[in-house]
Amino acid sequence: MAAYPISAAERHQEYGRYRSLREILAGTDRTKTALGHFNAAESLALNGIVAAARDLRVPVMIGVSGREREFLGIAQIAALVRSIREGHEHPIFLNSDHTHSLAAALEAAAAGFDAISFDASALPFEDNVRETQRAVEALRSLNPDIVVEGEIGDIGSGSRIHAAEREEPRVLTTVEEAREFVAATGVDLLAPSVGNTHGLTRAMVSGRTQKQLDVERIREIKVGTAAYLTLHGGSGTGSEDIRDAIACGMNVIHINTEIRIALRNGLLEGLLRDQEDVTPYVILRPAVEAVRRVVRDRLRLFHALPPAGEDAS
Ligand SMILES: [Zn+2]
Repeated sequence: MAAYPISAAERHQEYGRYRSLREILAGTDRTKTALGHFNAAESLALNGIVAAARDLRVPVMIGVSGREREFLGIAQIAALVRSIREGHEHPIFLNSDHTHSLAAALEAAAAGFDAISFDASALPFEDNVRETQRAVEALRSLNPDIVVEGEIGDIGSGSRIHAAEREEPRVLTTVEEAREFVAATGVDLLAPSVGNTHGLTRAMVSGRTQKQLDVERIREIKVGTAAYLTLHGGSGTGSEDIRDAIACGMNVIHINTEIRIALRNGLLEGLLRDQEDVTPYVILRPAVEAVRRVVRDRLRLFHALPPAGEDAS
């Protein structure tokens, strides 16, 4: 029998009552696990993600980036997540993903978001440092408990299916710039570029290729910064790379495109099953279940839990 870091009973002990996001992050370093960050743009994906996290009794973070926040409503998603946390006493957190302006970051913080991924990574390094440092200060003065993430390096854009891998190589984050960025900005979380990319290529969707992480670089950045680390664009990354990344100190892993694909497939299944049926909760159920399965598999990996069928939880 393999030894898993935390048994179902211990997980219940660890997560079964309210814990702050900071405590959860400290726990991921301690137990060599990762907090799953899953994006939702509407309530089907949200319900699928929450169901999976509750199935396994592990904490989870909901991510909403700019267009997702716009579609859901900022106050509305904040209220939904808060009601789930309180109603189920489940550690669920809300992150304003890829927040490009201070105004947008402050709006999310004021609405009660637990974390802000402040993303000025498109700017030159010095400008990114200055803007991020300013955001950290302003956000902490609004909410001292808020967790702020900064981003450096190129991880592409768009959680969608890309026709092909782009030609030019991506610039990966160096340990020196990671150290300088964390020291100068005071971010809690750092999102480096370590071979990860947003979205999936067609070859990745069909399973012919997978993303390759620079695991050694992750280790160096962790040792060099001692910061909590976030992996963006986790969709399409193989289990082995994910395990290695977590072992090297990755604390938060973002999955979006895999959820979008599951949601679309589940919607098609529900719509085509019985074309006479107009009952929304019958038609939409397969979409929720499809997201739940994808998230459950990823969470098992992030928490080093046994594969489906072997765990009583
Ligand atoms: Zn991202």
